[in-house]
Amino acid sequence: MLVAPPALHAGVGNAASSLNVNPADFYTIAGLVAVVLLLLTLVILNQRKKSIISNTSKALEETEARYRLLFEHSPIPLMEEDLSTVKTFLDQLRAQGVADLHRYFADNPESLARCAAMVRIIDANRAALAMYGAATAGAMGQLTSVLPDDQLLQFKKELLGLVKEGGSEIVLENRTLRGDVLTVERRAVVAAGFEQSWRKVFVTIIDITEQVRLRKENKSFEKKLQQTQKLEAIGSLAGGIAHDFNNILAPIMGRAELMLIENADNAPLREHCRGIVEAAKRARDLVRQILTFSRQVDQEITPVSLDEIIREVIGLVRPTLPATIGIEYDLPDRCPRIMADATQLHQVIMNLVTNAFHAMEGNGGRLRFHLEAVSLDIRESEDLSIAPGRYVRLRIEDTGHGMDRATMDKIFDPYFTTKPRGKGTGLGLAVVLGILRGYGGEIRVESEVGGGTAFILYFPVVELAAARKPAECDRQEPLPRGTEHILLVDDEKSIADVTTGMLERLGYKVTVRISGYDALEAFRNLSDRIDLLIADLSMPQMTGLQLYREIKKIRSDIKVIICTGFSEQLDSRSARSIGIEGFLNKPVVLSDLARCVRSVLDG
Ligand code: ADP
Ligand code: MG
Repeated sequence: MLVAPPALHAGVGNAASSLNVNPADFYTIAGLVAVVLLLLTLVILNQRKKSIISNTSKALEETEARYRLLFEHSPIPLMEEDLSTVKTFLDQLRAQGVADLHRYFADNPESLARCAAMVRIIDANRAALAMYGAATAGAMGQLTSVLPDDQLLQFKKELLGLVKEGGSEIVLENRTLRGDVLTVERRAVVAAGFEQSWRKVFVTIIDITEQVRLRKENKSFEKKLQQTQKLEAIGSLAGGIAHDFNNILAPIMGRAELMLIENADNAPLREHCRGIVEAAKRARDLVRQILTFSRQVDQEITPVSLDEIIREVIGLVRPTLPATIGIEYDLPDRCPRIMADATQLHQVIMNLVTNAFHAMEGNGGRLRFHLEAVSLDIRESEDLSIAPGRYVRLRIEDTGHGMDRATMDKIFDPYFTTKPRGKGTGLGLAVVLGILRGYGGEIRVESEVGGGTAFILYFPVVELAAARKPAECDRQEPLPRGTEHILLVDDEKSIADVTTGMLERLGYKVTVRISGYDALEAFRNLSDRIDLLIADLSMPQMTGLQLYREIKKIRSDIKVIICTGFSEQLDSRSARSIGIEGFLNKPVVLSDLARCVRSVLDG
């Protein structure tokens, strides 16, 4: 007999019977419980999702707030721009088959301007508003409010960068709402998520105006320094030989002049003599040029009227010019005066005029002088690297052959010339520059091949009362003569000899000595018979000035002429205050000597 295990049967049967539920009901209940559980899970899940969403949006808000904070308070100017209209336009172009945007903009420049006008500035941080001088981003509106027309090419570079790489970096000029112009570094990048529309483009702008200015200033300073060093090197070399050179030149010139006088009826000989005198004069001018820019020439700085100097120079050169060259002036009557040495100014104008004539020699042309008083503000004066203030501006313009850029870069270098040997020394403009800088002025040049040349000179104005320049010894009169007794002293025997010859030619009686002591001795013996002392300034043991002081102790009314070499310093104003009337520059030319002697004797 099969007996069922009692425990199992009893268990199930007991449970069902004790709850009084049949198995079908049991499954229904279980199903319900499951549904409830499922619902519960769903509710919990939903709850969690909600909390996740709320957390995320909270985080988003925080990020946004943090971004705003950064954006607003960044010391770097930042902007958000909307380029969606530009993007649509570019997309249309592509749809029409335009593959090369670079070419397209080159062929259609007006569409570039249109694109710029489509860029809207939608936000700008405080730094950007301050930089552009705007109250709100709305006040800036379109990009074109800060983008000058001449910067469109840079904008094109930005567009091409955005198309190709989603970002760009350019350097360009921007105009502020205040009206000043800044040089800026502009970086643009399309914001994430806006790659298709370009509705949001972040822009960083860094003002580099000051850096650019400093860089430029440094460069021009370096160039100036180099030029100064060159001038100094040449100057010290030249200064060293100039004195000796002049002493050699003096007797050559003097003796040739004497031969001219003594051979009135020997035409061929006179011709040779004239040649020697001319050559010697050229050599003398050359030494003077060299010494001028090394600033070793005596200067007499007084208030000078530039217009007078210009008229004088033109008066001198006019007769030697061909009729095909016309001269025009635009010189105001009452132009302010400048502090300068009249002789140096002569040289400045002469050098520029000579260059202009050389440039117009072949075809003739027109030379124009335009003089005016100007006030330079900080910006203009910075461009010229001179102090702001009042200046006299002289523009000398010719219609000659002009120059190319490479030539223009070198014209102020000493010894740079494009002229054949004998015609150019390359010193003219170096001298002009040296003189102008010495006065705190500056020079600029504008030129074009075939289009003529203009030199623009700036001289600082002096606000000073008139100070008359004492009469010089080089007036234009016929050779005056005399019979007075002259004591001549020069330590250089060859010069003493030739000057004696000249003075005797002019009719004077000459006592000559080659040292200060000997001259003093001679004067003691002849004291009441000497009418005039002509003394070299620099002599060993006793200088011309010391000799004059000693002689004055013997006879206080003695007249004197002091001869100076180019490289010797003599403050002529203070010399005049101690009674010195006449000065002669060595090497002495016969005509100068004759006039100077006469004017001092008669004065
Ligand atoms: P130089 O006259 O002895 O050559 P400068 O220093 O006066 O020396 O001038 C240097 C160079 O500058 C000239 O050789 C010439 O090439 C150029 N130049 C100067 N002035 C002018 C001008 N007015 N027109 C054309 N070229 C000029
Ligand atoms: Mg010249």
